[in-house]
Amino acid sequence: METFEDHYQSMVAALQKHMPGVDMALIDRAVEYADVKHKRQKRKDGSPYIIHPLAVAEVVTEMGLDMDAVLGALLHDCIEDTDASHEDIEKIFGTTVAELVEGVTKLTRADFSSSEEAQMENLRKMFMAMSKDIRVVLIKIADRLHNMRTMQYQTPEKQVKKCKETMDIYAPLAHRLGMQKIKWELEDTSLRYLTPDDYNTITSYLQSHKEQDEQFMNTIQNKITERLDSMGIHSTAYGRIKHVYSIYRKMQSQNKTMDELYDIYAFRVIVDSIPDCYNVLGHVHDLFKLVPGRFKDYISTKKPNGYQSLHTTVIGKQGIPFEVQIRTWEMHEVAEYGIAAHWKYKQGAGEGSEKDFEWVRRLLETQQDSEAEEFVQSMKIDMFDDEVFVYTPKGRIVSLPAGSTPIDFAYAIHSGVGNAMVGAKVNHRIANIDSKLKNGDIVEILTSKSAKGPSRDWLIICKSNQARTKIKQWFKREKREENIVHGKASFEAEMKRAGLPVSMINDATLEPQLLKKLSFTCWDDMYAAIGYGGMTAAKAVGKVRDDIQRTLRAQDVDNIPKAMRLSPDDPKVARNAVDGIIVEDMESIMVKFAKCCAPVPGDAIAGFITKGFGVSVHRADCPNAAHRNDPRQAARWVRVRWANQAEQPFETTLELDCITRDGLLLDAMLILHSAKVRVREAYGKDLPNDRSIVTLRFEVKNVAELETIRKKLLDIRDVVSSRRGQN
Ligand code: MN
Repeated sequence: METFEDHYQSMVAALQKHMPGVDMALIDRAVEYADVKHKRQKRKDGSPYIIHPLAVAEVVTEMGLDMDAVLGALLHDCIEDTDASHEDIEKIFGTTVAELVEGVTKLTRADFSSSEEAQMENLRKMFMAMSKDIRVVLIKIADRLHNMRTMQYQTPEKQVKKCKETMDIYAPLAHRLGMQKIKWELEDTSLRYLTPDDYNTITSYLQSHKEQDEQFMNTIQNKITERLDSMGIHSTAYGRIKHVYSIYRKMQSQNKTMDELYDIYAFRVIVDSIPDCYNVLGHVHDLFKLVPGRFKDYISTKKPNGYQSLHTTVIGKQGIPFEVQIRTWEMHEVAEYGIAAHWKYKQGAGEGSEKDFEWVRRLLETQQDSEAEEFVQSMKIDMFDDEVFVYTPKGRIVSLPAGSTPIDFAYAIHSGVGNAMVGAKVNHRIANIDSKLKNGDIVEILTSKSAKGPSRDWLIICKSNQARTKIKQWFKREKREENIVHGKASFEAEMKRAGLPVSMINDATLEPQLLKKLSFTCWDDMYAAIGYGGMTAAKAVGKVRDDIQRTLRAQDVDNIPKAMRLSPDDPKVARNAVDGIIVEDMESIMVKFAKCCAPVPGDAIAGFITKGFGVSVHRADCPNAAHRNDPRQAARWVRVRWANQAEQPFETTLELDCITRDGLLLDAMLILHSAKVRVREAYGKDLPNDRSIVTLRFEVKNVAELETIRKKLLDIRDVVSSRRGQN
């Protein structure tokens, strides 16, 4: 059984090699902390749990990561598996370590299983997006590596599940991050559990041919080394068998057995400089026969993951082809350890080397002039910041723009789902359809056959163009009824703004004339057009304005009984002409002032088109004007305003609520007298309980004068309150 001591010593050795001068006290503190927290736990093989974090920390150390990452590795299962909290760890080991552990915990909790091949890329992206700090990904890969190394203790079901996940997520990520060595181990171990027969066929074949293979490789290796030595090129050359999974892949893709498969040997020549790489290439081609079409120069054009080498395939005397990879030591480090190697170089090297790591920069958010320390700090993964990855209930991943809502999700699934949506669940709980989705959320759209379809608000709420386009399409195509309602509303609002009674468009003689002018066969067609934006309401009203106004004027004059028609020199008409009211969009229409509220200049007012008496002007707060937004009445209400006028008196009425006493009316009359206003009427009326009302009708120039008088009246003893107009 593996012991604590073995793993601890092994980790310490790695630390001393990669991080000489490391603060062992702090490392021991983390080991102690994790050990105490995991105390009662045992691994599947019965060994103490702590050997797992120790092993992961060792891998992380070998990757070349920093102290925070090693501490994070030691504590990586503490939040998930013990009662340790983020705050706890933060207090002892600092914010960075706590955040690393938190990040690993998040990945541990997420379910990255998916059966669809097309989903894998999204899974990997989501994995990265959830990680925030690249060290979290690296610790998690180290964690998985150790889990794979101890996979034999798991149940067969768990083995298959974990190995599939490893092939889907971890191995491709290791590849993406350029960590070839780890990638190979992950792949080979997975193959061993996923298709044990194939794995065993290959490994036992390799085992049985071991001697033969080694002999072959030694011959080649010696040949290369001798030549390079004689040319004075300092080099290290060695051969190896390609890893099991890559042989398996070759057998599958070429449909060959092991015996038929030749291309399983790979040689490496590692030299000190790039010119030497090309020199070695020349010698290799001189020593062996070139296989045409297999040369690749990954030095001048590096792979996206940063990998650099010269690759060529040649054939020796035995007729067996083999690949030769030629690279510098730095390229070798990068090939083996990938992103972590870059890191190591960055920490040790000056600024000059930074430009070599463009791919890292593309992968990570870095600052141009950042110091080594900051470089580590700024290793944030932001490449998927503009995307959010969520699951369908069946585990399919949907990628959406960041900030997306269940509405966006619904339309990303299918426009039919969006249009039938009545609600949403996020992580199995009812959620608002405008709530922001987070990475890893499971989103379920609740639909109904009787759904009313998208709401216009959704156009503002949704984040994706896809959703917006589909919603607009729906409104145009399927929602004629709603377009009519919306078009009608905006048309009528526009009519009102223009001071035109909407009812006029249904006037028997006017209607056909107006429709013809607008080129529609019925009003609904026009409303629908306005509703989906094919025509503006303002344009429609502009086209009918003149005709309606002409008819309106003719009707007004016709409808007034002869006896009541006013001649131009009548004082009322004169008043209207001089100081009266401007009715918007109507000229020389008759105006009268409503008795109920008796407006005076300065009051907010509204006009009502009466049948035959022109426009009656009410105060805007008059109860009789309260219903002017009622659709059945709206058409008859028009905008009116006070004209700039000479100081002409206007009649108005005030009612005073009083406590009954003698002389009240006289007191009120004295006030009006001293205000020099003309009083038309004044009377008192007794109410029960010693209350009475004094009604005063008098003339004022405007609302300001009225206010002054009203305040004075309220100062009279026993006057309790006042009220405009009469009821
Ligand atoms: Mn673990």
